[in-house]
Amino acid sequence: MTLRLYNTLTNQEEDFTPLDPAGKRVTFYSCGPTVYDYAHIGNFRSFLNADVLRRTLELVGYEVEHVMNMTDVGHMTDDDIADGAGEDKMQVAANRLLQAKKSGKLPADAAEIDPTDPYAVADFYADAFVDDARRLGLKLIHEADERPELMPRPTRYIEPMIQLVATLIENDHAYLADDGVVYFSVQSFPAYGRLSGNSPDKIRSGEGGRVNEATQAVKKHPADFMLWKPDPSHVMKWPSPWGEGYPGWHLECSVMAMALLGANTDGVIDIHSGGEDNIFPHHECEIAQTCGATGQAHFARYWFHTRFLIVEGQKMSKSKGNFYTLRDLMAKGASPAAIRLELIKTHYRSQANFTFQGLTDSQRQVDRWSRLHDWLDENSAAPLDEPGPLTAALPAFKAALCADLNVSGAIGTLNEAASRHDTSRKPPAGHGAGTYADELRALRAMDSVLGVLKLERQASVSQSDLDVSLIGTMIAQRNAARTAKDWAAADRLRDELLEMGIAIKDGPSGTTWSPVVSS
Ligand code: AMP
Ligand code: ZN
Repeated sequence: MTLRLYNTLTNQEEDFTPLDPAGKRVTFYSCGPTVYDYAHIGNFRSFLNADVLRRTLELVGYEVEHVMNMTDVGHMTDDDIADGAGEDKMQVAANRLLQAKKSGKLPADAAEIDPTDPYAVADFYADAFVDDARRLGLKLIHEADERPELMPRPTRYIEPMIQLVATLIENDHAYLADDGVVYFSVQSFPAYGRLSGNSPDKIRSGEGGRVNEATQAVKKHPADFMLWKPDPSHVMKWPSPWGEGYPGWHLECSVMAMALLGANTDGVIDIHSGGEDNIFPHHECEIAQTCGATGQAHFARYWFHTRFLIVEGQKMSKSKGNFYTLRDLMAKGASPAAIRLELIKTHYRSQANFTFQGLTDSQRQVDRWSRLHDWLDENSAAPLDEPGPLTAALPAFKAALCADLNVSGAIGTLNEAASRHDTSRKPPAGHGAGTYADELRALRAMDSVLGVLKLERQASVSQSDLDVSLIGTMIAQRNAARTAKDWAAADRLRDELLEMGIAIKDGPSGTTWSPVVSS
């Protein structure tokens, strides 16, 4: 079945075909969170839609190599006008935590962080992100347990960033300006503006949004953007041929995507995703840098952007009191499965309106599917006239997803088929060759994309069902083994915990554990 995807680059729906000559492997880079605070549900709408795309690709038979970065330096508060304007978001986080510490209001879970250490702050929020993403069933997280490089952090890619800047200077795509900053020259790259429609001319005329007034005098063109900024007072800084400083936010994603996904394809990847605000300047600049360095016509061949989430009809903001993280919603009793469904059910190219009524409806929906799942499971040996309704609906379910990820159409198909099963009684006597196990398989195949049923079942394994003291003892034994550098014993204990369904994580405040949510 051919997947059709809307491509922001061409402004149209296209048949998806991967670069891989064997037609099997897909390379996919998602712009991830900036780890300066807990991710909010708007962020998660963007990440979950990327997850739904990845799972759809897998449902139709591709193998997806998915990378999502966690930005831990250089993302400035004024990055829409670029050039390092504003404050680094990691500095914002450090100040916020320092203030909280002074006033004795540091949240309990942040009590161990040293707010003056930006690396510790980044580690803390990166761990929190991974926990939240795991709760919401982002498939990437489970792979990243084994291969942490799938969730790269820019502070660990400074060397290749410096190399990319040097290459761009060599290719005349970048220059060192009088203020000591290295800028990308948009006039050296005629395709600048192709993704967003924001051409250098529009930007010069003021039509293309704000520009950074402070750097106009030194730049060749108002749209030129910063690649490396020397600034010894920056919260995180590294030596470079252009002085001690830090990389531009756009540069980070170009470098990590090429390093992790583009090695065999001269820097070109299949799909790149983000929220709609990433189209300009972030992704436009990523294309200019990457193609400027590689000489390729494309960086990503398909650009996938999720429109924003609003809450109860309004832009989400802390001042309006309508700003929610996953933790906020869980504290109100919402289940991760219902939150996941609520965040994926609106088509990714439409604005989504998060409401508490919608969340309640999503929970009811998850409950109905869970009941159906358990009923099919209980009756899996019962004979069934083939094909059962879910089995028959699976091609239409796939077809809806292949039509530019029509999630609500796919859910409609599932529900129509589900309504043909009466879960309040024993299945009617069937005569066919099949069994209800086929129906269960079809439901699970559908859930391999929706990703809610396993989450729901996981949540129902409450902590009281688990032997908490045994887990604590095993973690203590593992820590002792690690201190004694007995890595084999430490690994064995970690594996034993995994077999018990417990994942552990070593963070700045010690080892934490959570039930495994397999996808
Ligand atoms: P940030 O942590 O600010 O770098 O944002 C992480 C991702 O979340 C980016 O891809 C943004 O485009 C996306 N994003 C931010 N706010 C929203 C929102 N309200 N709805 C959907 N996506 C969002
Ligand atoms: Zn990015």
